[in-house]
Amino acid sequence: MEANEMNVNQSAAPKRNAFDMTIDEWRAFVQDELNLPRYTADQICQWIYQKKVFDFAAMTNLSKTLRAQLPELIDIRLPRLAKVQVSQDRTRKYLWRLDDGQFIESVLMDHGNHFTACISSQVGCPLRCGFCATGQQGFTRNLTAGEIVAHFAAMESDVGHDINNVVFMGMGEPFLNADNVLRAVRMFLEPKMRGLSVRHVTISTSGIPDGIRRLADEDLGIYLCLSLHAPNDEIRSRIMPVNDKFPLSQVFSALRYWQKKTGVRATMEYILLKNVNDTPECAYELATLFDGLQVYVNLIPFNPVEGTRFARPSASRIQPFMKILKELNVECELRKEHGTDIDAACGQLRGKTVNQ
Ligand code: SAH
Ligand code: SF4
Repeated sequence: MEANEMNVNQSAAPKRNAFDMTIDEWRAFVQDELNLPRYTADQICQWIYQKKVFDFAAMTNLSKTLRAQLPELIDIRLPRLAKVQVSQDRTRKYLWRLDDGQFIESVLMDHGNHFTACISSQVGCPLRCGFCATGQQGFTRNLTAGEIVAHFAAMESDVGHDINNVVFMGMGEPFLNADNVLRAVRMFLEPKMRGLSVRHVTISTSGIPDGIRRLADEDLGIYLCLSLHAPNDEIRSRIMPVNDKFPLSQVFSALRYWQKKTGVRATMEYILLKNVNDTPECAYELATLFDGLQVYVNLIPFNPVEGTRFARPSASRIQPFMKILKELNVECELRKEHGTDIDAACGQLRGKTVNQ
């Protein structure tokens, strides 16, 4: 009877998720709980993050006792692959099922000699931008740092190759889940873990001033994209409700603070929406926003999302828009599209699957 109760208790105790643990937590764990030297933590992390071995039993430079002990205490918890679509340009779009049955998406872009992973920070998103498939689905919950890191690791494992670029441009607003996102970023950067270079990690935000300031203060050195999408508050509030809470003046004040501290150029994302923000007047007004800031503007052709009232402008509207920006000395580029034939706009795959 007693033994049974013990079993019940043991199985009920949630095991830690390996992907949730920072290098310091791994070191404290092996030293304090297992009485082993600190470098054992580095060895385990090397297996997981560098060799992509997700089974303690296969970590052959660990003692047999430790290999048997670790699975009792820690889970290497990966999401389950629910669906993958591969486009003609080799972009892979993944749908992952989390432990609680929720779904998140990620996208892998294949640039020939390197890959970029576009990863999620939340299940859904509460900010409801009018053009965004994720926004239409509403918000379910934040991802843990472990879930963020694990869906990246699962992509590397699936593609059988290192992925050296990470952008937080999947589902969710990273700065509404800043603790977990920044914890995940530290794991991506830590040399003993994934060891990505700071210039290969980018957070994209709809403009949460506190988050931008916090990123500046934490001094991680990573890149920042602002989803600007409009040249003034009037248009921006129409397509991005978050602008009512944090108007452009507040967002740009935070951006100036970030740039002063980091010295890094900020990227502005601007989705071109026909007859909404693609007029020559918009281009002129847009250029006036960047006084005192070093920016790079990424123009993005709208990726059509069912149920939205937006359309993509034709090249005859996009080209003059770009020309004006260039004449006003704003550095800009039209973003190359990836995976348009496979619903690669964020939230589209989950939207279809969950609503089916
Ligand atoms: N919430 C964050 C990050 C995730 S969205 C943000 O908004 O920045 C990542 C990028 O995809 C954002 O720039 C967003 O505006 C863009 N996006 C969303 N829906 C899109 C669509 N239908 N076509 C093109 N870009 C889209
Ligand atoms: Fe959320 Fe970004 Fe989509 Fe807006 S664009 S709803 S902030 S995920």
